[in-house]
Order: sequence, then structure tokens, then C-alpha cells
Amino acid sequence: MDPIKLAIVGLGKIARDQHLPALAENPNYRLVAVASPHNKLDGVPSYPDIETLLREQPDVEAVSLCTTPQVRYDIARYALEQNRHVMLEKPPGATLNEVTALLDLAQQRQLALFATWHSREAAAVEPAREWLTGRKIRKVQVTWKEDVRVWHPGQQWIWRAGGLGVFDPGINALSIITRILPQPLILKDAQLAFPSNCETPIAARLILRGPDGLPVNAQFDFRQTGPQSWDIDIETDAGRLLLSKGGSVMQVDDQPMIQAPDREYANLYARFAPLVRERRVDVDLAAFRLVADAFMCGRRSIVDPFIE
Ligand code: NAP
Repeated sequence: MDPIKLAIVGLGKIARDQHLPALAENPNYRLVAVASPHNKLDGVPSYPDIETLLREQPDVEAVSLCTTPQVRYDIARYALEQNRHVMLEKPPGATLNEVTALLDLAQQRQLALFATWHSREAAAVEPAREWLTGRKIRKVQVTWKEDVRVWHPGQQWIWRAGGLGVFDPGINALSIITRILPQPLILKDAQLAFPSNCETPIAARLILRGPDGLPVNAQFDFRQTGPQSWDIDIETDAGRLLLSKGGSVMQVDDQPMIQAPDREYANLYARFAPLVRERRVDVDLAAFRLVADAFMCGRRSIVDPFIE
């Protein structure tokens, strides 16, 4: 089969760190162009926006959107209207309605639309889901604490409305628990801490309930210095499962079970190719809905301004 002619839109950190290497090793794709307002890719035709790109490169079949979330919808909609398949970085948009509108359009036109959740592709996530099957889960604690200055240097968009603040990493944890825990998870309470100079929260605490009252607590914090935590601790009637390092490591009762190299983006592109070939959609909004609920019902406090 011929490789899918793909373009990247938004040549920032994640495009360079993950998308380009994943595409380079996957023979199902040929990267034919890039669109980014201020960035060009050596050796690949580069354009300032998607309109110019699709006009100049009419053979492009699919686009992978690695932009900031606030601009994703207009670009995705344009691509679908131009009959191109679309892969979306997480979060898939700035609002739920944006994404359901894209889903409708993709289905009407029989185009692929893939709302990706890279953390679900971490090595231990599916083994954890399998290990939990048949066990009675008693309690879940999610601790996602990282230093925003280290992981998101200069990314002003995170602090602007629609940028999600600490939910930008937090949604990764939610994408994992909405995959491995019994559903639905319902938000009972949320506390969101907004820096006085920002439009999005720097920290959040969520209290969720699963089926049969399963307590699930989550703590997200962007102010972590020293060791970073991306942990999900699950107590069951038959052992304690700890998923750590963002879902790449699994321990049961302190015994190492899984630890494997990072293949998250390789797996995402492996999933996208058959969606394109079969003109199918893969859009799961469970994690995004929990974030929307937290913004809708969360109690807010104002904390110290964030100065990078
Ligand atoms: P980033 O470094 O700020 O890059 C975002 C890029 O979007 C910018 O380089 C910008 O291009 C481009 N952009 C903005 N408006 C655009 C438009 N109208 N058309 C085309 N491109 C546009 O941010 P990032 O860290 O890569 O994050 C991007 C997305 O990936 C976010 O949704 C984030 O949640 C997700 N993500 C990030 C990471 C990570 O570790 N950084 C991990 C997983 C997922 P110019 O610079 O050319 O203006």
C-alpha cells in the first residue's frame, strides 16, 4: 500500500520531540509538508497556515494537528471540509462542542478523525487494565505533580483560557483512569487554584466516584519541584497496583511487573493508519468531559501570581 501523504500543522515542542521521530520510523506515512506560523522544517515544504499548505500541496491526504488547543477546531474543521483525514493532539479541542461538531462532520464525510490520548499508549496501561479485571477495586489515588517551568517553558498559551493550565498534564492521568477503571466516573467535588494573573488553574483536587461508590481522588499540581510524580495508586481486594512514571511502569505490591521503553507516539501513528484506510473515527471524550465538569462545578481559589 502507498504511504499516507501526511502534513503536520503546528511545529512546536511535541511535534519535534515526538511526532517527527514517530513518523520517520513508520513506513505507512510520508511527511510531505508542514504548516506553522513561525517555524519551518528543513527539507520539507513549510507554509504559514493550513490554507496555503493544502492549496500548494493538493496531494496531502491527512493532517496531524500539533497546535495549541485554542486554534485546533478551526484548523481541523477546515481540513475536514477539504476532505482530509485528521489526527488531533490532546486535548482534542478547547470545548466539548467543538469536538462533537468535528465528529459529526467527519462521520458525514466518511473521513478519519482520531482524538489521540498519548498516555493511554504508555507501556503499563493495558497490562494494568487486564490485571484489574476481576478484582474488586477499593480506592484510587491519582497524583500528577510536575514543575511547569521545566516541562512547559515559555508556553503562555497554557495560562490562557482554553489552555487548561494544570489540566494539560492532568488530562493525561484522566485519560488513563477512564481507560482502566470501571465507568462511569462522576465528579463529586473539585477545587481549582488559579494564580491571580492567569486564566487557568495551577493546581486542582478532584473527588470522583465510580460504580458502587468507588472513591477516586486526584491531585494535580504544576508547582512541584524536586521529584516529579505521575502516579496512579490502586488498592484492590487482591493487591495494590501502582502505575508510575505516567503509566510506563507497573508494580504490584511493590514488585516490578512492567517497565518498557516509550512507544506512545509510535503506537498512536500505528492506530491512525487503519483509521485513514478504513475512513473511521476514534473519539473518546471521557477524560475531556471530566475536565469540563471540573471547570463547570469546581470551587475556585486565587493563589499567588505565576511568574515564570
Ligand atoms: P508549543 O511548543 O507551544 O507548540 C505549539 C505550536 O502550535 C507552536 O509552535 C505554534 O507554531 C503552533 N501554532 C499556533 N497557532 C497555530 C496556527 N494557527 N496554525 C498552525 N500552527 C499553530 O506546544 P506543545 O508543547 O508542542 O503542545 C502542543 C499540543 O501538544 C498541546 O495541546 C499539548 O497539550 C500537546 N502535548 C504536548 C506535550 C509536551 O510535552 N509538550 C506532550 C503531549 C501533548 P509557531 O511556533 O510556528 O507559531
